[in-house]
Order: sequence, then C-alpha cells, then structure tokens
Amino acid sequence: MERLDSFIKKIEERSKTYIGYPVATDYDYKELYPFLEYSLNNVGDPFIASNDMQAKEFEREVIEFFSEIFKAPVDNHWGYVTNGGSEGNLYGLYVAREIYPTGMVYYTESTHYSVQKNIHLLNMESIVIRSQPNGEMDYEDFEVTLQMNRHRPVIVMANIGTTMTEAKDSIPIIRNYLKKYAIKSSYIHCDGALAGAYLPLLGDDDFNFEHGADSIAISGHKFFGSPISNGLVLVKKSYKERIGRAIPYIGTLDTTIPGSRSGINSMILWYAIQKWGKEGMLKRAKNCLENAAFLREKLNEIGIAAWSNPNALTVVFPKPTVHICKKWQLATENEIAHVICMPGITKEKLMEFVDDLKMNK
Ligand SMILES: *Cc1c(COP(=O)(O)O)cnc(C)c1O
Repeated sequence: MERLDSFIKKIEERSKTYIGYPVATDYDYKELYPFLEYSLNNVGDPFIASNDMQAKEFEREVIEFFSEIFKAPVDNHWGYVTNGGSEGNLYGLYVAREIYPTGMVYYTESTHYSVQKNIHLLNMESIVIRSQPNGEMDYEDFEVTLQMNRHRPVIVMANIGTTMTEAKDSIPIIRNYLKKYAIKSSYIHCDGALAGAYLPLLGDDDFNFEHGADSIAISGHKFFGSPISNGLVLVKKSYKERIGRAIPYIGTLDTTIPGSRSGINSMILWYAIQKWGKEGMLKRAKNCLENAAFLREKLNEIGIAAWSNPNALTVVFPKPTVHICKKWQLATENEIAHVICMPGITKEKLMEFVDDLKMNK
C-alpha cells in the first residue's frame, strides 16, 4: 500500500539519526513473527493460568531471570511483564499505598513525569526533594524534609538512572537516614527504567532487594530492546497478596494493573534473554559504556563540555542549535541535551553526529 510504503521510508530515514532516546535497536525478533498470527493474551496473574491462548510460561521465566538479577527473596517475589516503565512505577506506588495508606511519598525534581501523575491517580501525599546538579537526590534536603515528617510512613520513589542525566539515588544513603530518624514504616520503590536493566550485570547493584528495595520497575524496550513497548515490575510476593482479587470469569487473579496484556511482549523479553544471556547482555552494556566514553572524549576535543554520571550510557552537554536537536532527535531540558549510547548505535554514527555538531556549533 502506497501510504505504508511512504511511511516506512520516512521511518527508515528518521531512524538513522535517532540518538537522543533510550531505545536499543540491535534486536531481531523475526523468529517470533509467526506468533503475531495469534492473539496471545496474558490476562491477569502470570502464575495462574487462564485459558491456553497465552504465553505465561515465557513470562514466568522472564520474571525468574530478573528476580535473580535483582536478588529478590527466593520464596518471596512476584512480578509481571508490564506495558512499560511507567506502569511498573504505578504498580510499585499502588502496593506502597496499600501497605501504608497514610504514607508520604518522597521523590526528587529529576524524577520521571509518570511518577507525579501516578501519585495524583492514587491520591497520595507527596514532597518533592531537590536534586544535586548531576540529577541525584540532594540528601540534605531529604534529611530536613524527613525530620519534619517523622510521624508518617515513608515511601521513596528512588531513581536508578534519571531520564535526563541518568543519575542514581543511593539506596544505602536513603536507608541510613531512615535508620537515623528511627522510621519503622518505610517502602522504597526503584525506578530503574533504563539503567536498572544493565547495572546489576556490571555489579553496580546497591539498589537491589538485598540492599533494601521493596519493588523495582524497568522498561523492556529501552536496554533490552523491543518494537512494542514493555517492561517488568518486581515486588515482594507478600505485598502483592494484599492486592489480588479472584475473578471467576477470567479464571485467574486480578493482580495486575491492566486486564489484558500482550503475550508477545513476554516472548520478546524471553527471546532477548535466551539470545544474549547474562554474558551477552554484559558485553552489550560494556560496549555502550565504551561508546559513551568515546563520545565524551570527541565532544571535549571540539570544546563541548560533555559529561556523564558513573556507569551511565547518557552523555550530557549544553543544548546545541535547534537544527541539531531536531535532526538528531535530542531530548532537551532547560539548558542541557543528551545523547544516549544505546545498543545499536555505532562509533561511526557518533562521529557523524560530532562532525555535524562541529560545523553547526
Ligand atoms: C523511560 C522512563 C520511564 C518510563 O518508562 P516507559 O517505558 O516509557 O513507560 C520511567 N522512569 C524513567 C527514569 C525513565 O527514563
């Protein structure tokens, strides 16, 4: 069809200069194409079968893979494949509210926009904490705010890689403050949309369950890569048991936020795990970090003050011209822009960008 032909041409063309958003492009899911002929629906709880037109066996393996990576308690974890990081954040916050209905939510000004909306949807009370210039939580501001609300249960929405600068809030530091003020009721959700998916492979995982996370959400279409947006949320099982309701009509538990969920999404994440394995994923992450270092160096060489947070694929620099931002589809905020060195972006592509920037400074 002509309409589709022209649309694919446009997409092909624009995909060549797509370096500002965190999506991996090195995937190939052709082996899964035959399954697109069927309507696989993982409705409701992944651990309770509904009918047979579902792919929950793959979903459960994906959950197990991440429960190991995030060191979730062996007999006390549960999760599901979401439609993206935002839904995982909503789920974490929902669980937190069921446990602490009078809790106060703390999150920094660098937090993803979905969190504010989720807080609004759940009608929770919240306080915005200042960020440091690198995007990480300003712990002094957190401490002052915490002191004023010592009587309330604490719910922290921690960033494991902020959207703009990929900064990480330190769970051990946050935990120390909770201890210092003898706060007994607390819940920490980790928003690991991009970085949460690869940091544990590098051994940089002080945000996992063993370090005090109560729930973790990631996006699947970011580091793992997927043509359909998806993600994963993991919580302690004892928490989710406060939520599920049996629905006789679907033959499963209504423990998830949506009703119907795509079975294909679970198969995509499962396939990526099979194909790369932990080793392959680690190699991809290391390659991306190398590319990020390469880009910083090249930008610094032409006088552009580029920087990154530790172990980040995101390279931050002063906002260039509108032409450059549009062509290379750069995300900008205030005076900064970023390139995210995702799997699939080559050094050649980065050099093309640097050369373009040099001519259009
Ligand atoms: C991308 C992102 C999200 C949202 O994830 P989606 O998959 O787009 O819903 C949440 N938090 C952070 C830090 C992100 O970068």
